Amino acid sequence: MDYKKYIKIVNDWPKKGIEFKDITPLMDNGMAFKSAVDEIVEFAKEKDIDLVVGPEARGFIVGCPVSYALGVGFAPVRKEGKLPREVIKVDYGLEYGKNVLTIHKDAIKPGQRVLITDDLLATGGTIEATIQLVEELGGIVVGCAFLIELSYLDGLAKLKDYDVLTLMKY
Ligand code: 5GP
Repeated sequence: MDYKKYIKIVNDWPKKGIEFKDITPLMDNGMAFKSAVDEIVEFAKEKDIDLVVGPEARGFIVGCPVSYALGVGFAPVRKEGKLPREVIKVDYGLEYGKNVLTIHKDAIKPGQRVLITDDLLATGGTIEATIQLVEELGGIVVGCAFLIELSYLDGLAKLKDYDVLTLMKY
């Protein structure tokens, strides 16, 4: 499917010089959203996944329907101060800013096979931090899936050791 026709490019948002890829028109279209989720489920099917993990907030939008379709759980990775129980955390740099990500300490059991999802791969900082959290808890990252990859930022360079699916490239 030509998913790009469902992505709106917003110039100078959230900061001047950023060409933001807005995925909400894709989410808004039942056929396109289902097709994108189905492709990720297909990618994940052979990997014997125990758990899907996604960073807030758009990693939830992609990851939750995938976890539902696979019949496995979903564990949220959130910004500092958002999860109510004991967490581990990691600092990372973003395409536009800095951030701290956290995950509940008991979210993953050692040896669990994890699929990580997010809407978009830019510099790879978010996904790298998410991988770090998963691995620190003993999870095995068996795949990373994104709707969009910004090839010019080369986030894939940070994911050389992982199996990656992206549905669109810019
Ligand atoms: P990275 O950490 O790879 O530099 O940035 C990726 C993260 O920032 C993702 O969690 C993604 O949601 C968000 N992000 C950065 N740029 C964009 C964009 O143009 N569109 C969308 N939808 N998300 C973006």
